[in-house]
This record gives sequence, C-alpha cells and structure tokens, in this order.
Amino acid sequence: SLTIGIAGLPNVGKSTLFNALTRATVLAANYPFATIEPNVGIVPLPDPRLERLASLFDSERIVPATVSFVDIAGIVRGASEGEGLGNQFLANIREADAICQVTRVFQDPDVVHVDGRVSPKDDIETISTELILADMQTLERQIPRLEKEVRGRKTEAVVLETAQAALALLERGELLSGTAGAGLDAEALKSFQLMTSKPFIYVFNMDDAGMDDPALQTELRDLVAPAEAVFLNAEFEAELVELDPDDAREMLEESGQSESGLDKLARVGFETLGLQTFLTAGPKEARAWTIHQGDTAPEAAGVIHTDFQKGFIKAEIVGFDDLMELGSVAEARAHGKVRMEGKDYVMQDGDVVEFRFSN
Ligand code: GDP
Repeated sequence: SLTIGIAGLPNVGKSTLFNALTRATVLAANYPFATIEPNVGIVPLPDPRLERLASLFDSERIVPATVSFVDIAGIVRGASEGEGLGNQFLANIREADAICQVTRVFQDPDVVHVDGRVSPKDDIETISTELILADMQTLERQIPRLEKEVRGRKTEAVVLETAQAALALLERGELLSGTAGAGLDAEALKSFQLMTSKPFIYVFNMDDAGMDDPALQTELRDLVAPAEAVFLNAEFEAELVELDPDDAREMLEESGQSESGLDKLARVGFETLGLQTFLTAGPKEARAWTIHQGDTAPEAAGVIHTDFQKGFIKAEIVGFDDLMELGSVAEARAHGKVRMEGKDYVMQDGDVVEFRFSN
C-alpha cells in the first residue's frame, strides 16, 4: 500500500504530530535526533458519508479507508553527505510514495531550533537543498552507466535524455515534482526513484496565533504552491486525540476549526497519493475501499476480491447523493438512478457499488 513519509528538521513537531496520528505514545523529546526508528501509522480517512450509509443499511460496522504515514528520522544540513542520520533518512524517504514535510512556525524559546531561529522559508530551503543534492548524486552515478547502455542499445535513449534533463533542473535548484518535472518523461523519471520527483505536502506546525492569521497562511501557501499546504497545531492535535469524540468536537468548535488538522492531513495525503474511494453497504458493514484515481470497475472489484475482478460481469452503481435523496436502492432503481456499468467504466467519487460476477 502507498505511504506518506513524514520528514522535517529536528524539533519541528514531527513526533508530536506522528503520535497524534497513531494515537501512540512514543516519547516526544525536546532534543534533536529523538526520532530514530521509522514507524508506520495508519489513520482513517474521514468520510461522513459512511455514517449515513450505515444508518440507511442498518450496517453493523463502519470500515473507513486508511492513509499510511511513515515517520522518518530527522534530516539536517549536510544529510546528503551522510551527516547525522542522513543515510538512514535517505533510505527511508526513498521508500515513501509522497513526502510530508513538517515545518515549524510556532515560537517557543524552550524548544531549541537547530539553526537558532524559526524561519519556515529557510527550513524548506534547507530540506529541498539536501534532497536536490542527494538526487543529483543519484543521477550522476547513473548517467555514465546509462550512456554505455544506450550505446549498446540496451536502454532507450529517452531514459538517458530524461536523466540529463532532470539533472539540469536539479542543478538550477528545482524540485522535480510540481511544474519543473512535468515536461519530463514520467515513466523514465519514475525509474530513477528520485526523492524530489515525489509529490510534496507541507505541514505548517503553528500555535494559536498562526492558526488565526489568514495573511500568514496565504504567504506560506504561496511559498510552497503548487504543492499542498496544511496548517495545524501539533500539540493541539495531540490533545484532541486523547479526548472522546464529543469532547473533541466541542474543543474543535471552540477553536473555530471545522475539521481537525489530522483529518485535513489524511484527506490531503490521500488525494496527493492519487487515491480515491468507492463505497459498499449492507447489513454487515458500510465501507470505503481505496482505489487509484482513474481505476475501472473491474479494477475496483479486484480490490474487494481477485475473483470479483476475474469473473466481473457488471457493476450496479448508484451515486451517494441520489441514494440519500431517494432513501433506498429500490427507490433509486425505480427512479432510474441505478446504473449498470461495464468493464470500461471509470469509477467516480461517491459511487455506491454492488458488483455482479461469475465464478
Ligand atoms: P521532532 O524532533 O520534529 O520530532 O519534534 P517533537 O515532536 O519532538 O517536538 C519538539 C518539541 O517541540 C517538543 O518539546 C514538543 O512538545 C514541542 N512542540 C511540538 N509542537 C509544538 C507546537 O505546536 N507548539 C509548541 N509550543 N511546542 C511544540
């Protein structure tokens, strides 16, 4: 399954955020290098539709889709040269499908900043520079081999050309995700496993003042665009997950937020990974299933069971909104809102599905 690596300089609140994400109780220590072992947290993707489906179908339980996060040991200036936990970091980050960079915005004289001052712009640049340098090394190592292989016709020229073009962009200080890498051959680029070609999400860890400062948030959003920006207060999130749901909702409302930072992050993460869900419902469970954006009906069926994909006949689909409006699948059918879709159908968000298959 796809995972998002949580990265960032030491002491920016990664562990605090990660603890909140996993509701685990790993110690968040106030010194650099506290985070050594990578951990995986698997959090539910918030989806209010599931509760409504469950009550319509009288389902026994709700099974949400999930998003996986990996906590990656801290990066420092010089990490690409193997300083600090650099090499460990680079190995872990390479395995992630997207990178979530936590950046400190909160001011707290009791929490040391590795560079002695809080500057989101500088921190982002420090990490970007390390990742760019590491990717340049990767390409510089691969290019001579690729040249030989292209001469011997073992590798297509486009692979070498992509490597050279990517290196040129990195030398100019560009990340390969976002607009800069968009012109490169996607398949060739992927084969190099570069870190800056992964999608990025920026989490800005702010105190209450920052959460109430739209001008600051706009500035930070512009700084990282077109990548996604998520604003949250990691300590607040850590408190929130300790409360029972009613108290948590109340505390959230009091803070003036419509959604918790973790829910926001799960949602943005899910989208950044290129994922989407479809829904199934019955007396046993109301469930969201994870597929890739653009997956067809048989591919979606295969997520439930490989037999469903092999023996796929058709999918009976009703849109969530139609179903809610009409109150039952039978009523939806009577109104012509239940569609029969074949093997070429591309799944849409909010599809409530029943698959027909032979075995
Ligand atoms: P990491 O090194 O990036 O994993 O950072 P930690 O999560 O261990 O946090 C470092 C220190 O900053 C800890 O003492 C946290 O309690 C504190 N901290 C984390 N988030 C916040 C925040 O939003 N506000 C304040 N004031 N302190 C925070």
